[in-house]
Amino acid sequence: MDYLPIFMDVRQRPALVVGAGAVAARKIESLLKAASRVTVIAPEAGEAVSSLVTDGRVTWQARAFQPGDVNGYCLVIAATNDRSVNAAVSDAARALNIPVNVVDDPELSSFIVPAVVDRDPVIVAISSGGRSPVLSRTLRNRLETELPDALGALADFIGAQRAHIKQAMQGRSVRRLWERFVEGAGAEAVMSGNEPQAKAVLDTLVSDEHAKGELGEVFLIGAGPGDPDLLTFKALRLLQRADVVLYDRLVSDGVLGKIRKDAERIYVGKARADHSMRQKDINQLMIDLAKQGKTVARLKGGDPFIFGRGGEEIEDLSSAGIAFQVVPGITAASGCASYAGIPLTHRDHASSVRFIAGNLHNDDYQLNWPGLNTPGETLVFYMSLAKLPEITAQLMAHGKPADTPTAIIEEGTRATQRVVITDLAHTADAIDACSVHAPTLVIMGSVVTLYSTLSWFRTGTGYQVYP
Ligand code: SAH
Repeated sequence: MDYLPIFMDVRQRPALVVGAGAVAARKIESLLKAASRVTVIAPEAGEAVSSLVTDGRVTWQARAFQPGDVNGYCLVIAATNDRSVNAAVSDAARALNIPVNVVDDPELSSFIVPAVVDRDPVIVAISSGGRSPVLSRTLRNRLETELPDALGALADFIGAQRAHIKQAMQGRSVRRLWERFVEGAGAEAVMSGNEPQAKAVLDTLVSDEHAKGELGEVFLIGAGPGDPDLLTFKALRLLQRADVVLYDRLVSDGVLGKIRKDAERIYVGKARADHSMRQKDINQLMIDLAKQGKTVARLKGGDPFIFGRGGEEIEDLSSAGIAFQVVPGITAASGCASYAGIPLTHRDHASSVRFIAGNLHNDDYQLNWPGLNTPGETLVFYMSLAKLPEITAQLMAHGKPADTPTAIIEEGTRATQRVVITDLAHTADAIDACSVHAPTLVIMGSVVTLYSTLSWFRTGTGYQVYP
């Protein structure tokens, strides 16, 4: 290891920055964030430093650096564009064993400044040992997306509870308890802003350290339309935590690949005619698993609250007193439209869009056919493959123009995506003629014509125009 990684307490302690340009200003900002008292020495100050001076946040000595200047500072940063000045600063600081950093010059520095992921008070510092700032920044960006924003809140919560928990544990080890808290429902509760629930989890952990009787939690997660890159960060994080994952037929293999490797997987999928598991049984299974203390992810295609029966699933959880969270997903309409190059709204074409369940499964429930003929409205039919002859006939019977542009999108967003472009009159025939299979989404309206200039997704089978 070339460098010793440490975090230094500089609160109310004096730091010296030599140089007052834009780079110096960035270093000063970091020092100020850590509550250091900053003095700047430079004959002239740039805009950013000047305004810090005006605001009284730093002291500026408008003159050239002299070796004696480093006296009394707990650390020194040189950020001038003159290497001989930087070297003089470095020499002076080193002579007095004061830590010194010369920006972008590891050779002249006794310490280097890491790339930082800031979830205050949690700080992740990354260094490539001065070899490649670009590499450090790339790693930082990766961590930025992986670490939840609320990590700081979690650290604060634990910090505030530590003494109390230590006392409540009466001399027993608290390490395991905190591990379980950080990896379990408690941390999730803190990070979603539910402190009372987090405290309840803590109480449970204390009173029964060995997990007897502890309730698990259920995450109802939207898996999106197929491309695993369309999962949200939260979905990914919770999938990595789940002990058991219940998933549907519509959840793609790519998404299933993101589940924690040692998690149990239960297929509860529903094909149209073949209900592998009835809704009530799925709901009961989730409740039973949670009662065994398991963390359960219920993974559903698209968005759980759009034609996903997500509401029904959590109603039962709620009555059973099981904690749950809902993670939205990209619904098929958004995913398929984007990947087919068909904007659902467009100022020249459509000012509203309607999502319609096309399975017409309930005889008591009738679509409002005349209402589906609003000019300037895009229609999106989910679950409509089997009923397209009836749907298209009804639409035309209620005055919708037979030449309304229509896109049939099969396996949208996946490597196997196929788009059939047709019109209302030919939609039903196109299904057979082009052997379209599920899952399929149907988009109707003049926005469909935009695909010819806006298509971009080159994977998949591409576009087919029928007839
Ligand atoms: N909750 C889901 C929809 C469930 S209903 C969502 O928000 O997307 C199931 C219907 O969604 C299918 O019949 C089909 O019409 C549509 N669908 C889901 N994924 C799809 C995909 N990748 N390509 C095309 N249609 C899809």
